[in-house]
Amino acid sequence: MSVRSKLPRVGTTIFTIMSQRAAELQAVNLGQGFPDYDIDPRIGDLVHEAMRQGYNQYAPMSGMPQLREAIAAKLDRSYGVRVDPELEITVTLGATEAIFSAVQALVAVGDEVIVFDPAYDSYEPAVQLAGGACVHVPLQPPHFRYDWERVQAALTERTRLLIINSPLNPACTCITAQDLAALAQLLRGRDIHLIADEVYEHMVFDGRRHHSVLSVPELRERSVAVYSFGKTLQSTGLRVGYAVAPRALTTELRKVHQFNTFTIATALQVAIARYLEERPDCGAGLLALLGAKRDRLIGALAGSGLSLPRAEGSFFQLIDYGALSDVPDTQFAEELLTRARVATIPLSVFYQQAPPMTLLRLCFAKRDETLDEGAARLRSYAQQRQGHTAAAPSRTPS
Ligand code: GLN
Repeated sequence: MSVRSKLPRVGTTIFTIMSQRAAELQAVNLGQGFPDYDIDPRIGDLVHEAMRQGYNQYAPMSGMPQLREAIAAKLDRSYGVRVDPELEITVTLGATEAIFSAVQALVAVGDEVIVFDPAYDSYEPAVQLAGGACVHVPLQPPHFRYDWERVQAALTERTRLLIINSPLNPACTCITAQDLAALAQLLRGRDIHLIADEVYEHMVFDGRRHHSVLSVPELRERSVAVYSFGKTLQSTGLRVGYAVAPRALTTELRKVHQFNTFTIATALQVAIARYLEERPDCGAGLLALLGAKRDRLIGALAGSGLSLPRAEGSFFQLIDYGALSDVPDTQFAEELLTRARVATIPLSVFYQQAPPMTLLRLCFAKRDETLDEGAARLRSYAQQRQGHTAAAPSRTPS
């Protein structure tokens, strides 16, 4: 019998494909976003300890109380906001589950959801499975700034939700306080919710600060803000995230969460709560490490012919290969993978209709050796390419 697909246009994600092919080709993997260095061993010790102490059965559906308390304290430290750990915080299976559960809770058949391209790839399938439709508002390279008039024009009677992401993966830009003010004004008096994907909250560079929807009361009251310990503790395999939302929204989100993932590994939650108590500044500590890695990558590719607009936030950096080639980014990523043996992520796949651009995303949460090797391969490929371009006219008979 034939199988009807509810997601006919969805295939394997670009991240998985690139990581698989990088492994096959023994390429340097600067594609999928995950650190290749060790995590703080204290986290492992605390998980071990929690298991030994018997934290091995179901945690409460909303999350272990001590972790929700620790999250509330962390939000207070980061954004000066008071959040009720009992009624406003839900521990989820990574940020992806938080987003998925929030979308299922908020979106019904026929609803429209505004997403900003380049949009992270999990948003649209979540909306489709809820029976909604995404309306894509593109952010234009090279600056990827919001055009709030364009957003206003995209609002209809059916608009139910907006999904924003800052720092923005894959564009590496950050939302500004002015943007949040414009958004608050736009949504005033309208029945529209907001999901704010803020998983890279601690990775904002060059003296910027992260602007959270939680610190704008008018936005907070309509928002589900989503965070990730996988990012903050540099361990994407933990799969522990959380959603922060006002009481009524949290109630609806938990209705989905309890039948989606129900609860998250108990020992992990206990361990993370204890780790946050021991290292309350762990998020802030990321900045020096990752800022230095970003600068190392930019430095290593200076003068290579690839241009690197400094990432404002996230652990990704864009490279623009426009001076070397005008082939589509998927093709250039393929060239880099097979010829330079470096895996990257093309940007156009995150657009419904991609504007002309020659941008790839690199992950710099990597050991210095990985970054240096990746950069050396990219540099030498760029040189070959330039030689090729420079040599081309002499080979053309006049
Ligand atoms: N968040 C990761 C990235 O942007 C991808 C995670 C995944 O593979 N789904 O690279």
